[in-house]
Amino acid sequence: MRSGSEPAVAQPTQKTALESSLPILPWAQQLRRGLVTLEQLEERGWLEAPAHTKEFAIAQSALDIRVPVAFHEGILRGDTSLAKQFIPSLQEALIAREELNDPIGDETYSPVAGLTHRYPDRVLVKITYQCAVYCRFCFRRHKVSHAEENLSYEALEDAYKYIENNSKIKEVIFTGGDPLVLTDARLEPHLKRVETIGHVESVRFHTRVPVALPERITLTLCERLATLRTLPWIVIHANSASELTPAALTAIAQLRRAGLPLALQSVLLKGVNASADALEALWRAFYRIGVKPYYLHYPDLAKGTHHFRIPLSEAVKLMTSLHGRLPGLALPQLTVDIPGGHGKIHVTSESCQLISSASDEQGERWRMRSPLSEKWVDVAYPTTTKQSS
Ligand code: SF4
Repeated sequence: MRSGSEPAVAQPTQKTALESSLPILPWAQQLRRGLVTLEQLEERGWLEAPAHTKEFAIAQSALDIRVPVAFHEGILRGDTSLAKQFIPSLQEALIAREELNDPIGDETYSPVAGLTHRYPDRVLVKITYQCAVYCRFCFRRHKVSHAEENLSYEALEDAYKYIENNSKIKEVIFTGGDPLVLTDARLEPHLKRVETIGHVESVRFHTRVPVALPERITLTLCERLATLRTLPWIVIHANSASELTPAALTAIAQLRRAGLPLALQSVLLKGVNASADALEALWRAFYRIGVKPYYLHYPDLAKGTHHFRIPLSEAVKLMTSLHGRLPGLALPQLTVDIPGGHGKIHVTSESCQLISSASDEQGERWRMRSPLSEKWVDVAYPTTTKQSS
C-alpha cells in the first residue's frame, strides 16, 4: 500500500497483508468481514466527503483502514464515539508543525530492530505492526499497518538475544501493532523464546483485540497464556463504554476465568470521551468486570491527529473533576509521553508546569520533567486553528 507501485487507496476486493497470512479460523473470518476501503465506508454513508477526495487518500496512505464488525452496529446506530475513532477524517491531511513522525521516540531507543528499550527494567517487542482495528489517532502510525515493517520471528532473534544479554530487563511487553492478531502458531515461538530467558519475570500484551476482535480470545489462547511461567498481564486498549459489546464481555470473562490479570489503558480523545460523563461510563464499565483502569494517555503528537486533542490544561481539570465520582481503584493516571522520546510521566504539578495558555496563534506551552534525564523539557502543543499541510 505504501510502496510506489501500489495504489494509495485499497480496492474493495483487495485483501490486506494480515488477512492474506491467516488460515481459515472463525475469528479470521470475522476479521475478513471488517471494512477496509473508503468505498465500503462511502457506500454506508459513513464518510464526510466523497471517497475519492485527496485528503482521504493522504489519510489512508498514512494508516490503513479497518473498521471491525464489532463496531459496525454501534456506528450504524450513530455512536460518534466509535465513528470518530475509526472512520478517516479529512482533518488527517492537516499536519501541525509540532507533530512528529515518531512522537514518543521509539526509534531513538531501539538498539536492535523490533525492540525499544527506554527504561532499564522493561522492553517493548513489536511482533507485528498489524491490528484488528486501525485507530485514526494511532501514535505509532509511522509503522502500524505498513506490512513491509513487520519482522518475522527469525528477524526478531537479535531482539531476544539483546534481552538475554541484559539481566536488568525484567519485563517484555509485546506490542506493535496488536500482538494478539497473530495466530496461535505464530505467537507460540515468541512465548517459548521469552520463557527461556530466566531473568524475565513478567510479560505484558498491549491489545485492542478483546474489544475489536473478541472472537480471537479463544479457550485455547487463554489456556496457553495461563500456563506461561511469566504470567502475562493483558492491557486492553478501549476508549468508550460502547466498545464493551456482549461479545467483548464474553472475551474478557474468558480471560478472567483463565486467571489473567487485566488492566485498561485509554486515550483522551476529543469527540470520543473528553467529558466527565463519558470517562466515568468508560471506567465504571471496565472496573465492574474486573479490568483496572490504569492509564489515560494524553494524545501523542502523531501527524494528522490534532483534531483529537483538547488542551492539556483542560485534561487536568477533567481528571480532577472525576476524583470523588469514582473509587480510587477505578481511576487511571493521566499520563503524557513527553514528545521526542523523553519518557512517560504522570501529569502532576511536580512533573508538568504550564508556561503559556493557548491563543489563536499558539497552542499551550508546557515544561515537563523527563524521567529519563531528569531535565526539564519545553513542549509546545499545536493550536487547533493553525496547521501547515
Ligand atoms: S490498536 Fe493500537 S497500534 Fe493498532 S492502530 Fe490502534 S492505537 Fe495503533
